[in-house]
Amino acid sequence: MKCPYCRADDTEVYNSRVTKFGTQIWRRRRCQSCHEAFTTYEAPDLGFLKVVKKSGRKQRYSRAKLYSGIYGAFLSIAAKETTVDAVTDTVEAKLLDSKQRELTSAQVAHITLVTLKHFNTAAFMRFLAYHADLSSDAQMRAELKKYS
Ligand SMILES: [Zn+2]
Repeated sequence: MKCPYCRADDTEVYNSRVTKFGTQIWRRRRCQSCHEAFTTYEAPDLGFLKVVKKSGRKQRYSRAKLYSGIYGAFLSIAAKETTVDAVTDTVEAKLLDSKQRELTSAQVAHITLVTLKHFNTAAFMRFLAYHADLSSDAQMRAELKKYS
């Protein structure tokens, strides 16, 4: 891999580890030419996955979109950015485990909610309020029942 600083080809891995949830590999590299160090991540490519919207339109899966949805659920909750990363990684691991090439946006939201509930109840409630129809008490009870 080329050094991002001086473009030399001669870089060496001097440290690597699997991230907490096992879905990414982190590598620390050093350039043999300018001796600068940099980090690379290796993550599964979910580029094959299509998300089917309510309208029936298909969209390529986007980690950025998932991340910003989860990030929004954690807004004003005292949580670390690493928690948002961890939730996103966990949801992606579950998307891979599903072995599907297509999922509906409702299925992705469901997987995200199951994961969020495990991490943080307040963020779970916020995400649910945003993604489900909770316009009546009965609907709210029905939604909550799915995750009890
Ligand atoms: Zn260099």
